[in-house]
Amino acid sequence: MRRQEAKHLVPQWVPHYIGGTFDPAGEGTSFADLDPHDNQPLARVARGGPSEIDRAVNQAVEAYHRHWRPLPPRERARLLQRWAEEVVRHKQELAQLETLDTGIPLRQTLSQVDRAADNFRFFAEMATRMTGETYPNPPHFFNYAIRQPIGVAGLITPWNTPLMLETWKIAPALAAGNTVVLKPAEWAPLTAWKLAELSQEADLPPGVFNVVHGLGEEAGAALVSHPQVPLISFTGETLTGQEIMRNGSQQLKRFSMELGGKSPVMVFSDADMERALNAVMFGMFTLNGERCTAGSRVLVDQVIAAEFTGALTRRVSAVAVGDPFDTATELGPLIHPDHWNRVQSYLDLAPKEGFAVEVGGARPGHLDAGNYLQATLLTQVTADMRVAREEIFGPVLVVIPFRDEQEAIAIANQVRYGLAAYVWTRDQARATRVAEQVESGMVWINSQNVRDLRTPFGGSKWSGIGREGGHFSFDFYTEWKTVHVAQGTHAIPVVGRVGEA
Ligand code: NAD
Repeated sequence: MRRQEAKHLVPQWVPHYIGGTFDPAGEGTSFADLDPHDNQPLARVARGGPSEIDRAVNQAVEAYHRHWRPLPPRERARLLQRWAEEVVRHKQELAQLETLDTGIPLRQTLSQVDRAADNFRFFAEMATRMTGETYPNPPHFFNYAIRQPIGVAGLITPWNTPLMLETWKIAPALAAGNTVVLKPAEWAPLTAWKLAELSQEADLPPGVFNVVHGLGEEAGAALVSHPQVPLISFTGETLTGQEIMRNGSQQLKRFSMELGGKSPVMVFSDADMERALNAVMFGMFTLNGERCTAGSRVLVDQVIAAEFTGALTRRVSAVAVGDPFDTATELGPLIHPDHWNRVQSYLDLAPKEGFAVEVGGARPGHLDAGNYLQATLLTQVTADMRVAREEIFGPVLVVIPFRDEQEAIAIANQVRYGLAAYVWTRDQARATRVAEQVESGMVWINSQNVRDLRTPFGGSKWSGIGREGGHFSFDFYTEWKTVHVAQGTHAIPVVGRVGEA
């Protein structure tokens, strides 16, 4: 029933949003947006390329100079707060669209919408408190440095939690005074379309926020190579990030890269087992296992490995897979058949690599259509196997026992990624020692990834470049300018003295 109701919210045609208006329906070429529940088409989506990107960028450049940059920060903040109110007012609608499009259970998309509104509010408020720095140098100089917006920010986002991640970039980019061209993921374009509609409701000036839909290698690549887009904020796969950096390097663009992960959860023998178990299950099997910071490798002290793995086996077997609109569902379908095949291809490595599929590993018997996969637990895994090193990005958890702290750290650091790490122990000294040595952008001690929006979010190694969140986002979306002001008449050496030999 709810699924049918939600389908009424979907437009037949998902248009670009350029210069404050939606392109007419049916304009140009298109592609199908699929429902991961049954892989039936939900909508046709406008398929942008260089000319649509060029139109959007031109509008964004004009809006930057004419409307947005001259606006006092308080006024920009007011408009972002209004946008947040519209998001809250349309919470049910946004969550249903997101669930239809991504297969993420409705209860989870509802909280993602709250977070999207928080993103607007948080950065709106921060923008009003953005300050510069002063460097008094008496008696001759008073120097100061100010943050200035840069121009048009190109935002390229993935299909996992699209609305949350889009607003995580849009809000600081706009709060800092830039204008935006967003290229949403082609597999989940619906909430970006709705967000554009809500920006109209919030009276955002035309051209400040633009959306061009399309494929990565077409619309995305055109945005990256556009000469009037000085900065690109990208979230997605590491390989795509590399390609984007190559393509943008000709023009010396500024990049923020939020990339993949293979984050370890290190469970020591003195851990609070029940809480650790809850955190592992939450971190791995919510958002359909398609979470960049998922703790997808459980490293467990061999002393408790049998007990912990046994408890995990029972819990993973009990995960409720089903229609994401059903209130009992914990794990919905994966985003796309191609992605399902990719995840399954890792499970097919079992005979070759020698790991055991302890739980799951296949399509659930009661769901024969769509991209459903059982919650899966792999054991007899060693750190050198591909399932232990590569990002699977689905509901697949691996368990690897360790002998001691040093070995736990060594295994944790053995992968190319370094996004998040989780440490479970009651020994504070050990917790901080491990946190210090593990190679990752973020560490949570005795918790799952509870976010504090003020803290720097991002990865080390192959998980990214730069940090987002708090003033770290403003470091990316603004440029420092230093102004040196002479006080009085200090001596200036004369060069080219006229009339002297
Ligand atoms: P993806 O790299 O396939 O696509 C991301 C975006 O890039 C899409 O909009 C796509 O159209 C675009 N794109 C693809 N090729 C492009 C090109 N040549 N030029 C310009 N744009 C291009 O990633 P995905 O499959 O959508 O998302 C999953 C990945 O995102 C996972 O690796 C996950 O870990 C990562 N992720 C990271 C974070 C983080 O904060 N570190 C958060 C969420 C997701």
